[in-house]
Amino acid sequence: MAFTKPSVKLGAPRMGRGNDRHSDTMEVLSTGVVIAYKARPGYPTQGMKLAVNSAAIQARNIVRIANDELAKVVLLRRKESQLMIDTVAKHYRLIANDLAGGFLQNNVIDKPFKLGAVFDHDRRWVLNKIREMVLSLSAHLNTGVYLIDQDTATRDVFDGQKQTVGLAPYSGWVGYVHPRAARNICGFRNGEIHVDFATMVTFSLNTNACIIIHEAAHKYLGILGDTYGDNVNYPPALQHGGLENADSLAWTAISLATGAVRMQLHDGPDFANCPGAAL
Ligand SMILES: [Zn+2]
Repeated sequence: MAFTKPSVKLGAPRMGRGNDRHSDTMEVLSTGVVIAYKARPGYPTQGMKLAVNSAAIQARNIVRIANDELAKVVLLRRKESQLMIDTVAKHYRLIANDLAGGFLQNNVIDKPFKLGAVFDHDRRWVLNKIREMVLSLSAHLNTGVYLIDQDTATRDVFDGQKQTVGLAPYSGWVGYVHPRAARNICGFRNGEIHVDFATMVTFSLNTNACIIIHEAAHKYLGILGDTYGDNVNYPPALQHGGLENADSLAWTAISLATGAVRMQLHDGPDFANCPGAAL
């Protein structure tokens, strides 16, 4: 079901210099998945809609499953699985007995419960921070996913005015959220999640899901850290903003939900073609 974007129909004002908009049409792809784009003959293609819809469903399932896995350890106090141990070592540099340059007071796997330790900055404290972020993303994405086409190839309106194709901010990216509010301020003040529909057709399901989760971390959690999984310096250490990095959260969730540590090598294939079936 496609319909004219209400903001276009109503001529609603927007932030920025002008009131032109690039996308003019919204469409419900499936329950809880809504997209917006600039409609023209044959665009977006069925292939784009399929890729975007599948990715949105995969993203929300990933964060739901990952949240369950983290809750088992943090809330139900089950033992950490080897997958959990390997995943947080890779994506948060949370490595058993490593105190992260003094960031942690202790870092013991499956440490027995001790009342006096509840305020410690320890391994479970980090795992709980990650759990809280994944839980928030799960609540948001499982309520509904709204994705606007970045449409880099033809986008000639930005900042509310006609401008040159290829010069829009974020043009070289496959997705973005324009930040207006940092962590702990209402995520709705940040811009919507934009993804490039044309690029998503070229990526795998889990890589596309990663992009959505990454952008959701910017939008809903106000996370600003952007050290990507393909960067040789990935992930940032805990004592250097490791808990505030969008890709660390996205790849952790994907790894926990798909049963294998994903994005293990910065020059591996996962960044564009992470394997894995639909969940
Ligand atoms: Zn980012």
